[in-house]
Amino acid sequence: MTRQDDRLHREKSSPGRQTDQRYLHAPFQKTVIRPDAIQQVKDAARIDEVVGQFVNLKRKGPRFLGLCPFHNEKTPSFNVVPAMGIYKCFGCGESGDSIGFLIEHEHHSYVEAIRWLAKYYNIELPEEEATPEQAAEQTERESIAVIQAWAQKWSSEHLWETDEGKRIGLSYFHERGFRDDIIKQFQLGYVPEFGNAFSISAIANGFNPELLEKAGWIKRREDGNAWDFFAGRVTFPVHGLSGQIIAFGARTLKSDKKLPKYFNSPESALYVKSRSLYGIAFAKKAIVEQGTCLLVEGYTDVISLHQAGIANVVASSGTSLTVEQVRLIKRYSTSVTILYDGDPAGIKASLRGIDLILAEGLSVKVVLFPDGEDPDSFARKRPSSEVLDFIAKEAKDFIVFKADMLVREAEGDPVKKAAAIHEIVASIALVPDACIALIVLATMQSLARCAGAGADQRNEQGAASAVPQKGRRRGSSAGSPGGRCCTTATGVAGSRHAAAGT
Ligand SMILES: [Zn+2]
Repeated sequence: MTRQDDRLHREKSSPGRQTDQRYLHAPFQKTVIRPDAIQQVKDAARIDEVVGQFVNLKRKGPRFLGLCPFHNEKTPSFNVVPAMGIYKCFGCGESGDSIGFLIEHEHHSYVEAIRWLAKYYNIELPEEEATPEQAAEQTERESIAVIQAWAQKWSSEHLWETDEGKRIGLSYFHERGFRDDIIKQFQLGYVPEFGNAFSISAIANGFNPELLEKAGWIKRREDGNAWDFFAGRVTFPVHGLSGQIIAFGARTLKSDKKLPKYFNSPESALYVKSRSLYGIAFAKKAIVEQGTCLLVEGYTDVISLHQAGIANVVASSGTSLTVEQVRLIKRYSTSVTILYDGDPAGIKASLRGIDLILAEGLSVKVVLFPDGEDPDSFARKRPSSEVLDFIAKEAKDFIVFKADMLVREAEGDPVKKAAAIHEIVASIALVPDACIALIVLATMQSLARCAGAGADQRNEQGAASAVPQKGRRRGSSAGSPGGRCCTTATGVAGSRHAAAGT
């Protein structure tokens, strides 16, 4: 059990234990929330509104229904009942009220959940001074959250209000074509290069050096002296689902190839890399509205697309996609469109990650950008209508795309081609049954287009016969998210078909 699990477990088993207590680390006053304010928050909370922030809910008479965020399912069994103020999943049994949902789903503490609700419903939380014991109970997670929020303000101030920040950081963002409103929305910042300005300022403000290190902002030498880990870099805050800052990426502005381009916060009580997606807080509503999630590689791709008016976009930030990230997307849509720059090596490296998306039952499309362009550079030079058109026109079903690519690569080499077909069949086998026929058809057409020698066709036939069997073994298509298919819908911003299950 991790430290965090342990804490959650304790809170769950004694829900009132930590009631009404919240303590902020210095430099803020250590305070507790007044009980009457807590009651006011509880009274205001509407379960469908709260859960609806994180789960795509559809009204069914007096209740709401959605895909359960706590277990993997393809048909919704997650019920929200406003009249009773509760949610209940008939698949895995999870249930609770608004506060319980925020604790379970967002990994908030009880007090963090109260604060979240108060903010959402615009309720003021009067606070009283905390006792020393209460103050001591402050969790590491809350402390790191306070540090990250403070560090964001600090680094943004240094970007906008200091000579060095303007000359180096801000001019870099402007060179990239970022507008001021976008720089502010994404809360970008800058850390001065020399003098460990951040460490000095943070420690002078009462932050604990050990926690600053855990939050990723400072490193300490053996003699205990601190230095700024992000010195001379522009900063990109990573937001959690609810918009809280959980980590940072920091980019060097030097051309020295030996320097890592990005430094990132380490994992912490607040930040688990495999469970977070860059941009998700800004994208979740648009993903639901557009019926698909655009997946890109980097921070700047997300920001440039936002600036072009395309908001349903997240990045896995350079790491290969994880199951948790895929499930995070799945809360909002069952369709993913991956935007690639034209680099074949990068595409090949990511193929396995895409199989993971298929295995979770999402439909996947791929858009390849022209040589030398990535989503960032492409979106910067064009109006958003043109970018959207391009995505809609170029989106290809992933398996067809993979087949094209592998078969083209194997051209004239029967052994390679057999291996390619094997790989394609493996991908097809992951797709939920209802879509399979269309995919197989399209794939086979594409294979046939690429096919050279007649000898290889035996392999193709082998592939074709292998697939429907696997599909049948997985059960009938009844009850699966059927028409969420795959080769027919355009699956791009503007099209709702891809996820609508029509
Ligand atoms: Zn469930």
